[in-house]
Amino acid sequence: MIGLIFGPPGSGKGTQAARVEKEFGMSHLSTGEILRSEVAHGSAVGNEAARIMAAGDLVPDDLIDRIVESRLSRIDPTSNVLLDGFPRTTEQAKALDRMLAPRNVDFVVSLDVPEDALIDRLLHRAAVEGRADDTRDAIMERMREYHHRTAVVLDHYRGRGVSVLEIDGVGDLDVVLDRVRQAIKKLMLGKPRARGI
Ligand code: ADP
Repeated sequence: MIGLIFGPPGSGKGTQAARVEKEFGMSHLSTGEILRSEVAHGSAVGNEAARIMAAGDLVPDDLIDRIVESRLSRIDPTSNVLLDGFPRTTEQAKALDRMLAPRNVDFVVSLDVPEDALIDRLLHRAAVEGRADDTRDAIMERMREYHHRTAVVLDHYRGRGVSVLEIDGVGDLDVVLDRVRQAIKKLMLGKPRARGI
């Protein structure tokens, strides 16, 4: 199974992805985490990405495509994978289709949270975690990028007949996890050949 988890900044996708991964035995690949680790290590990729990320912009498609392709090549091709934070543009979605062929994306989880709640959560996280892109300006830019470039990626998948599971992301983490879990299970029931789930 190949799943994607989508959601605007602050929607909790990283947290939910980690839980879904554990529960359904999926390999979790988060492009945001990979990039933050590259920045922390001062690698060439990290140095290229650091300023772009701190401003809340998206790093170039070709850079992120190469990272994902190399990570996917290290994962057993029969395993279940959950991608978090990728694809974020329609070009990235097309690149992913090429990387996965002949496999396809099986489902997309999309977490829905109203914008005022997102901004509150991110400003709170800024005080606790101190992420470089949790400043008010960078948060607004990340929201803008999400609405302009990432939300349309859902249409790419809908157009290809992929199930987009829209989940209410407001509420306790466990309550949201339960919604995600039920939606994935329901989808699996309709896909009897799905492996391992
Ligand atoms: P959030 O969803 O809270 O913004 P992420 O951890 O998913 O957090 O991503 C953090 C930043 O990493 C993004 O704002 C962007 O700069 C960069 N990034 C992550 N994934 C991608 C991607 N697929 N394409 C371009 N930039 C990305």
